[in-house]
Amino acid sequence: TTPSALLKSCLERIAARNGHLNAFTHLASTDELIRKALLADARWAQGTPQGPLDGIPIAVKANICTKEHPTTCASNILKDFTSPIDATAVRLLMQHGVIILGKTNMDEFGMGSTNIHSAHGPAYNPLGPVPEGHLGGRSPGGSSGGSASAVAANMCFAALGSDTGGSVRTPAAYTGIVGFKPSYGRFSRRGLVAYASSLDTIGLLTKKVADAKILYDILAQYDEKDSTCLQINEEPTVLHGDLNGVRVGIPQEYFMTGLSSAVLQAWNAAAQHLASRGATVVPVSLPNTKHALPAYYVIAPAEASSNLARYDGIRYGHQSERCDSTLKHELYTATRTEGFGTEVKRRIMLGTFVLQANSYTSYFLQAQKLRRLVQSDFDNVFAKPNPLRSTDSGSHNSANGVDILLTPSAMGSAPLLADIANDTGETPVNEYADDALTIPASLAGLPALVIPYGQDTEGMPVGVQLLGQYGNDRAVLDIGKMLE
Ligand code: GLN
Repeated sequence: TTPSALLKSCLERIAARNGHLNAFTHLASTDELIRKALLADARWAQGTPQGPLDGIPIAVKANICTKEHPTTCASNILKDFTSPIDATAVRLLMQHGVIILGKTNMDEFGMGSTNIHSAHGPAYNPLGPVPEGHLGGRSPGGSSGGSASAVAANMCFAALGSDTGGSVRTPAAYTGIVGFKPSYGRFSRRGLVAYASSLDTIGLLTKKVADAKILYDILAQYDEKDSTCLQINEEPTVLHGDLNGVRVGIPQEYFMTGLSSAVLQAWNAAAQHLASRGATVVPVSLPNTKHALPAYYVIAPAEASSNLARYDGIRYGHQSERCDSTLKHELYTATRTEGFGTEVKRRIMLGTFVLQANSYTSYFLQAQKLRRLVQSDFDNVFAKPNPLRSTDSGSHNSANGVDILLTPSAMGSAPLLADIANDTGETPVNEYADDALTIPASLAGLPALVIPYGQDTEGMPVGVQLLGQYGNDRAVLDIGKMLE
């Protein structure tokens, strides 16, 4: 097949389904897309493609900057904003000939797990019922819900998302596709609109692990424009077609109350699958897992409250017109009141509170200590030392440590939007609690891969998650291929 044939089929699916699924919030002009695809056709015909993805259509989450398309972050405060730069990840893709199809729906600024908190309205899961009215469908997960929906509905070959606490992995699990969050710093964050900078990563949504690997090889580049970009190189993994000698840990603390039976079954079946390929599967303990969720919901809002202070109506995006005061703070207040949605306001309030002088020690500092405990738990079970922390190379757990961890990725399968809306018990805290399985890896900055593995009784997909030691992204991807 040629790039233009692939583009044509993507555009047909978009025309047929995007109206319902609301996956794309902005599409590139069809003429421009066709022009680019024909150029790529010619390069392939001449045997001179710009790389393995030359002419391949890829979607980009609305919080990743592109010069050619708006970057709304699904927020009214940025509804007319177009960035003067391309994110480094976008630039690298374009250098390899990738065609950017458009921008995808999300929870505003990445804050959410179901894509209901979007100024563009919710995105829908292509595997659920076709929405009749507003609440007919299922959630594609969040916050990268549009990216996942677009990939799962074959509207694009792959999509970029972002993952701060699970935002690529939860949507992958709910839509039955592959979701990869690299080690923190492995992909440049330049041009990824900041939510919680110490946790933010750009991530990948694809149909197959092999596709994620191709994108990984393009995007895993040091970038001097991101001060937290990783300079540590990876040793190639040596897997010879099976998993002999590979030790897989099953963290006992991930047997959380609330896991659905389909999720438990998938987890168990995946463990048996890895064992059948020669891996040694052992139980391990990560005793501080329970602290991850509260620590995250202090740290992420704290960083968000600081990062979102830049939206003042003066430098970027929306400015309130209903304010005739010349006092700057009144313009700020009017602009921010109009521009931010409820969930974003809640996070800003929460973050501002935990950073106040009289709560800083009891909340923010405590959360940082808990984060360190969660990180140490992982270092205590992995065979490889953490390249960021360990100076003693020899004395590590190499004998009884594990190479990879296998966990569930979500408590259950994709919820119906009606259930999210009707559940009177659904408080923000309940929504946050659904992130318990993805957040520990985010706090520790670890590479994490979600792979579809089975389905529930209603046919909705269920995923499992693989976690690797910091910097060991390739090992995670290589072992992940064995689960397909
Ligand atoms: N659900 C989490 C939150 O709302 C994670 C979101 C994300 O990874 N961007 O913060």
